Amino acid sequence: MEVDVMKKIPVREQDPKVRATNFEEVCLGYNKEEAEAEASRCLNCKNPRCVEGCPVSIQIPQFIQAVKDGDVAEAYRVIGESSSLPAICGRVCPQETQCEGKCVRGIKGEAVAIGKLERYVADTAREMGIHPTPPKEKNGKRVAVIGSGPAGLTCAGDLAKMGYDVTIFEALHEAGGVLTYGIPEFRLPKERVVQKEIDNVKALGVKIETDVVVGKSVKIDELMKKEGFSAVFVGSGAGLPKFMNIPGEQALGVFSANEFLTRSNLMKAFSPDSSTPIMRPKKAVIVGGGNVAMDAARTALRMGAEVHVVYRRSEAELPARVEEVHHAKEEGVIFDLLTNPIEILSNEEGWVSGIRCIRMELGEPDESGRRSPVAVEGSEFEIECDAVIMSLGTSPNPLIASTTEGLDVNRRGCIVADEANGKSSKDGVYAGGDAVTGAATVILAMGAGKAGAKGIDEYINA
Ligand code: FAD
Ligand code: SF4
Repeated sequence: MEVDVMKKIPVREQDPKVRATNFEEVCLGYNKEEAEAEASRCLNCKNPRCVEGCPVSIQIPQFIQAVKDGDVAEAYRVIGESSSLPAICGRVCPQETQCEGKCVRGIKGEAVAIGKLERYVADTAREMGIHPTPPKEKNGKRVAVIGSGPAGLTCAGDLAKMGYDVTIFEALHEAGGVLTYGIPEFRLPKERVVQKEIDNVKALGVKIETDVVVGKSVKIDELMKKEGFSAVFVGSGAGLPKFMNIPGEQALGVFSANEFLTRSNLMKAFSPDSSTPIMRPKKAVIVGGGNVAMDAARTALRMGAEVHVVYRRSEAELPARVEEVHHAKEEGVIFDLLTNPIEILSNEEGWVSGIRCIRMELGEPDESGRRSPVAVEGSEFEIECDAVIMSLGTSPNPLIASTTEGLDVNRRGCIVADEANGKSSKDGVYAGGDAVTGAATVILAMGAGKAGAKGIDEYINA
């Protein structure tokens, strides 16, 4: 295969017109020939800047060398030293600002496609039946993990590898956290990818108890004092949606992106034979510009709606990954930028009939460094629609903190925990992921899960 060292080997994708009507995965990934050709672009740098950019320090040049040598098992082993969910990270990590953002190939040409190579390794290893190996001996100590998202799964997997007897308690009826109920099928296939990564964690001996809402079914103090757990890791995420508090937000047909995506992903509400179907909007307005907004927009599009994304800043400030915005545009999502909603309009029956917006312009940079949007007086206008999906971010659910004495939270409701080891204000309780940082990324949650496992091991052995 001919290789232009300055350019990435293009990855195959479903045609935009076709994929806009189905929930199949958009990106088809590399085959062996393409992966080995892409791997040949890596310079195997002595001081690999890509590793500095990876929050879990995967030995990137080593795994890429193994891909080049055609040794997928070795590549999988190298990645597995640092990451327990490679098929997921290879698909959803913001590589352009992490490993690939630092790759020296990116200075004059295009960075090495590290994420797509990670995905290739994880998918090929799975097809070859390669799994992580469980520990030979257990140490007899029990640890409880709350939440089965990337933070909880990683913490549980690492502790199990050290010999601990780990039980994950998950509030929902399926494990995986946002990987299962948030990120849509067309970006992250559930059965083929997420479930298989969860099976790998289970294969290490981790038990998962679903339908257990910690704080209601059982409290953290009971887990430690009555149920015999030596320590607890809280990886309960940030699943509480924010709203705008504008007039009309109570109208029928206003959803949080969380509700819309959870019902679609977890309950398969998009399918005509779902037992819990969801309204199929004709014209939906998505408010917000992050990854969650792109996922809600592309889901509504696949359900047959004309979709508008309304965002108060310009395209340069869109917080979503560039790839997601590009995919959304290719599929036909319409972007109404520098636009802010001020009221939701409804008909006599109380259903959404439109959204009143105002045009914005960019003023001086705010504390985040982004130029703050300022309303243009007299520029109000209306967009007709029958659904509004609010995608303005989320915060941690207060249930666990409010039912656990001595567990401190900050003013944003996030659990206060040490970044290095996950230690909270309560003895024996560790925490990490979105529950601590607020809504962030899969890889940061995984990093926090790893840190928490190390902290718990040190605590139990002190
Ligand atoms: P979560 O994944 O939220 O998992 C927490 C789990 O804890 C949940 O399963 C929840 O049910 C459970 N839980 C909560 N309370 C309790 C309780 N009281 N008892 C028992 N269980 C409980 N990140 C990226 O890196 N790339 C992306 O492309 C990306 N896209 C995203 C798209 C969407 C729609 C969303 C919502 C998020 C996206 N993110 C993305 C962010 C990323 O998914 C999160 O940062 C990450 O999942 C956080 O992991 P976590 O383990 O901390 O929490
Ligand atoms: Fe390879 Fe880029 Fe990492 Fe260098 S920085 S080792 S070229 S992936």
